[in-house]
Amino acid sequence: MEGSIVGVPKLGPVIAIDGPAGTGKSTATRRLADRLGFIHVDTGALYRAVAYLVLEQLKDSSMGDERSLAIQLASSVHLEFRRNPDKNPANRIFANGEDLTDHIRTPEVTMTSSRVSSIPEVRAALVGLQRRLGCHGRSILEGRDIGTVIFPDADVKFFLNASVDERAKRRLIELEAVGSDAPSFEEVKAQIMERDRVDSTRAVAPLKKAQDAIELDTSQMTLDQVVDTMEKWVMERLS
Ligand code: C5P
Repeated sequence: MEGSIVGVPKLGPVIAIDGPAGTGKSTATRRLADRLGFIHVDTGALYRAVAYLVLEQLKDSSMGDERSLAIQLASSVHLEFRRNPDKNPANRIFANGEDLTDHIRTPEVTMTSSRVSSIPEVRAALVGLQRRLGCHGRSILEGRDIGTVIFPDADVKFFLNASVDERAKRRLIELEAVGSDAPSFEEVKAQIMERDRVDSTRAVAPLKKAQDAIELDTSQMTLDQVVDTMEKWVMERLS
């Protein structure tokens, strides 16, 4: 794995943003990328796409188990991001030419992506792609292991955090906004805690702050404050 990282040199500035779900990471990253004119790479979408394909295959046939299907799919599927400004979100994830963006945010895909991403072979299959997506520079990658594994040489690293209660509150608002059958606050909180547990206890690339990352607790911050703070750090570090 190290070999593939070293094999794809970084050609310009890269920003790494890591942290658990519900910290405002995705929205803040998108806004920061827009302000700086950098490309935004949502690496969680790659794991979600694999998880979605696994679930589809399991529905279609009883052949294979989640783990082996995930390994086989992660190493064979062609994943790419394409921009479509007429759609929301504009950054679309395609698997073998098919746009999966509108299918990968369901609770089922969310929980499956957390399990699938803890499989070392799945992570190894996606390392090179993530590195290639960001290596041209002027890019911001968000995920769980960007500052520790994918771009340990990133120019600026952030680790966003927030209390579990605050993250559950935000997630519930998001779910209500898309009109899905809203679960209770306690259910959402339990799901977040379970995802945190899986993400931070896995053997390979667990969710953890890189030593040199700037840590931001967003519990009491507005989105604008988070983006402003990150922008200031980036300006200072890149100047
Ligand atoms: O960020 P998002 O919630 O969309 O990620 C979905 C899942 O993918 C997470 O629960 C996490 O387990 C996994 N993930 C990961 N490494 C990344 C990005 C996401 O393990 N770099």
